[in-house]
Amino acid sequence: MLQQVEEVKSKTDIVTIISQYVDLKKAGRNYKANCPFHSEKTPSFMVSPELQMYKCFGCGESGDVISFLEKYDGMEFYEALKYLAQKAGIKLEPTGFQQKGDKEKLYLLNSYAAKFYEYVLLNHKAGKIALSYLTENRGLSIDTIRSFNLGYSPDVAFALKNFLVGKKGFHEKDLENAGIVYKTERGYFDRFRGRVIFPLFDHRENVIGFAGRILPQDEDKKFAKYINTPETLLYHKSNVLYGLNLSKKEIKKQNKAIVVEGELDLISTYQIGIKNTVALKGSAFSKEQARLLGRYSKNVTLCMDSDIAGDQAAMRGINIAESEGLDVSVIELKEYKDPDDIARKNPELFKKIISKPIEIITMIYKRTLNFK
Ligand SMILES: [Zn+2]
Repeated sequence: MLQQVEEVKSKTDIVTIISQYVDLKKAGRNYKANCPFHSEKTPSFMVSPELQMYKCFGCGESGDVISFLEKYDGMEFYEALKYLAQKAGIKLEPTGFQQKGDKEKLYLLNSYAAKFYEYVLLNHKAGKIALSYLTENRGLSIDTIRSFNLGYSPDVAFALKNFLVGKKGFHEKDLENAGIVYKTERGYFDRFRGRVIFPLFDHRENVIGFAGRILPQDEDKKFAKYINTPETLLYHKSNVLYGLNLSKKEIKKQNKAIVVEGELDLISTYQIGIKNTVALKGSAFSKEQARLLGRYSKNVTLCMDSDIAGDQAAMRGINIAESEGLDVSVIELKEYKDPDDIARKNPELFKKIISKPIEIITMIYKRTLNFK
């Protein structure tokens, strides 16, 4: 194992790997950048190609390429090793280490769950009403539905559990750890029932959790319109930017991110060709979301359902985003109620508005002084 770690490291260039995440500039024999682990204006983060190490002289973070991926990208040791081995074209020998880690097992389980839900939506009669809701009421194409791997959870107690335990050999406890079942005195029940399913991906394309929306016909019968996976080993609400797995390239290319609130806002926006968008799953930025988005672009335009100036949580979120170095602007949707609404009714107007965002402070003046 140790030998393999050394082999992978010897065939990996730390500068190339870190450059994927951080804008490194040549400085003599080394490279430098603003530190990705703390907030700073002058670069004290150094990468040495000779030593294949990084070190920050501001906050003291240091290590090799594997520890960079662990700390910066949240990978587990073996996950990082496997990622680098793949890039270097090295086949890892099977060792005890290769037994799936807890996280990897949950990634796998979630990916089966996502495929199950997707199958039900697209192919099974149980998903028929949900499919017509998405295509007819929400105007989504089958291509779009496939791009986001949308699904449907049948309205019965054990559909997913029976599939994952019965057919895929997982234990009920694994399902509970993934947050897709919950335990009662009468055993484990599927958490998502009778809901349109939005798989939640991290920026590396792993399924980390799910959001489920009820169908309009059930709005009087069920409590919450949306439910999410609870906090698990994989899913931390404050770390998730919905859609980032699909939009990160375009955000980097355009050096600009459009930020919306909900899953359907994002999907409709994406469908009309605005592909540099992420959804906060709420109206306010968390520190982690601001940091994650800042890796791809510092220019952020908010396009929210609610009146941002009147939403204290949203304003706090903007302060957080700004303190993480993001440059935040905002657009107003005129008479339209949310990005989903304008994307469907007037896509050309939407694109025009997005190209001319206004500064937050201007928006606040406009609102508080109430002049147009
Ligand atoms: Zn630092």
